[in-house]
Amino acid sequence: MALEGLTDMKRREPDTQTPLLARLLQEVLALLEQQDQGTRGGDLVQALVQDAHRERASDIHLDPDSSGYRLQFRIDGVIVPVLSLPKDQGTRLVRSLKSLADLEPAAARVPRDGRAHVMLGDRSLGLRVATAPAVSGEKLAVRLLPHELFHLGLDELGLSPQDYALVCQSLQDARGMILLSGPTGSGKTTALYALLHELRDTGRSIVTIEDPVEYIIDGITQIQVQKRQGLTFAEGARGILRLDPDAILMGELREAESARVALDIADTGHLFLSSLHARDAVATISALRNFGLADFEIAASVDLIIAERLVRRLCRKCRRLERTDDWESRWLEQLGQPVPKECWHAVGCPECSRTGYRGRIGIFEVWRLNEEEADLILRHTDEHTLRRRLRKRGMSSLLEDDLAKVGEGVTTLAELRSVGGFGFYDAPGNRHDG
Ligand SMILES: [Zn+2]
Repeated sequence: MALEGLTDMKRREPDTQTPLLARLLQEVLALLEQQDQGTRGGDLVQALVQDAHRERASDIHLDPDSSGYRLQFRIDGVIVPVLSLPKDQGTRLVRSLKSLADLEPAAARVPRDGRAHVMLGDRSLGLRVATAPAVSGEKLAVRLLPHELFHLGLDELGLSPQDYALVCQSLQDARGMILLSGPTGSGKTTALYALLHELRDTGRSIVTIEDPVEYIIDGITQIQVQKRQGLTFAEGARGILRLDPDAILMGELREAESARVALDIADTGHLFLSSLHARDAVATISALRNFGLADFEIAASVDLIIAERLVRRLCRKCRRLERTDDWESRWLEQLGQPVPKECWHAVGCPECSRTGYRGRIGIFEVWRLNEEEADLILRHTDEHTLRRRLRKRGMSSLLEDDLAKVGEGVTTLAELRSVGGFGFYDAPGNRHDG
């Protein structure tokens, strides 16, 4: 197992020789030189953000270590080392980024975060800058919030035609709860925003309570959680009800109190949208039970559950159909899946910075509860039995949705395995008995 992991790591290893990264390195170093002679730190930050954006990075990391600072990008979910900086240059870069986000220049003693914008051409790019004191210095992370990320259409997320139709139907009916589940970084926020755009276009009044508001959308009332002022998810959502909305979005369902408010909202004929941590659609029901909601309340209020993971998309320029690897065969067998002679594999070319992947796509499990299933929840049916019922009526699982995308050459088995969490499907025959 460990060895297989290593092969996988090798495939993902970034190539620091790519022309773009090399150019970036030169540009930044040149700017740092000039900065010594009084150039404004803003130019440096501008160049850095521009490069990160061009490389499709979602985050910029500046990590202090014993010799200075490591500059790294997160691209398609993977950390890519960019360059090492001497301590003084790294510290200056951290200070410039903090000043852009109106954070105090002195090294932070507690974690802090702020927001900023930079102009790239005629378009503004949002940034969220977070710092924290680490043992070897101040760590800084910048999240890039490009317009495109929050403007993906529902049809661009990667839903299969059947799942897409289910989601559209649920939005059309607009009642009860629509919940997105998955771990952190599984694309829930992007998907929630895609649902919001779809809803907004149907002329409904929508209010959101978010922490933080990631992106401002015209035509939607967005409220930011402010815990210090006592404005929590639950408080905010209660207040929102008095604003006469058709639909309410709560960024995340985190505790029992919010779940209770969510229930009130759904019960009073509104559409309620939110996200929560659960490993698949069925486990979302358990999460609601753990928040203290009764089975009859869950059965009556939940309309649709979308479980999501993100996997990297194979680069179309260099992907290759090759003989199925040994580990791939064994793994598919373990999952009780047929083993094809050939599988799509990542290779690497200049187009994809030699990673073999370009961009990401969601894999989904979409469950619209029917009467029979609501009845099963009412009778406190366990997760295992619920899953079997859903497979029996042909609902495609996260695993099956992904295997379909592997078959089409959209992603690879290595990617599927790296997102993990499929252990509960493992036992052969699990999915077809019962
Ligand atoms: Zn490529």
